[in-house]
Amino acid sequence: MVVDAHNLRSEVRWSCARCEVSAGQIDDRPSPLPLTWTTSEGLAYCLSCSRARAADEAMELLPETITGEARAKLRRKALIRFEISRSPDSANRVIASACRTSTMAVAAVRDEIDIPLSTGVAPADN
Ligand SMILES: [Zn+2]
Repeated sequence: MVVDAHNLRSEVRWSCARCEVSAGQIDDRPSPLPLTWTTSEGLAYCLSCSRARAADEAMELLPETITGEARAKLRRKALIRFEISRSPDSANRVIASACRTSTMAVAAVRDEIDIPLSTGVAPADN
């Protein structure tokens, strides 16, 4: 197998490490990672799992004191953030529809994209 300078892998069949969905050419020729997929530590993830992983990762960083509505809001924000960094050139409405949110919400996240996800809440120390 030829690996080019950019280390782009080709596989006959890509399988998502999380949901096991697979993608590939009909004629079984090796193809590069599908555009919408991401790789992490040598594993490939389909678009929906990539999104879920981005949101899950953000959730893991949150203190347990953040629950319910606030948590759901931050999860949605993480998703928008992932979608923007995945395709920064996409119009806000495209990202909004991918994340099932409003263009206003996308615009707001774009405005603060360089600011790390911050809860502003100190962990409870009882
Ligand atoms: Zn998947």
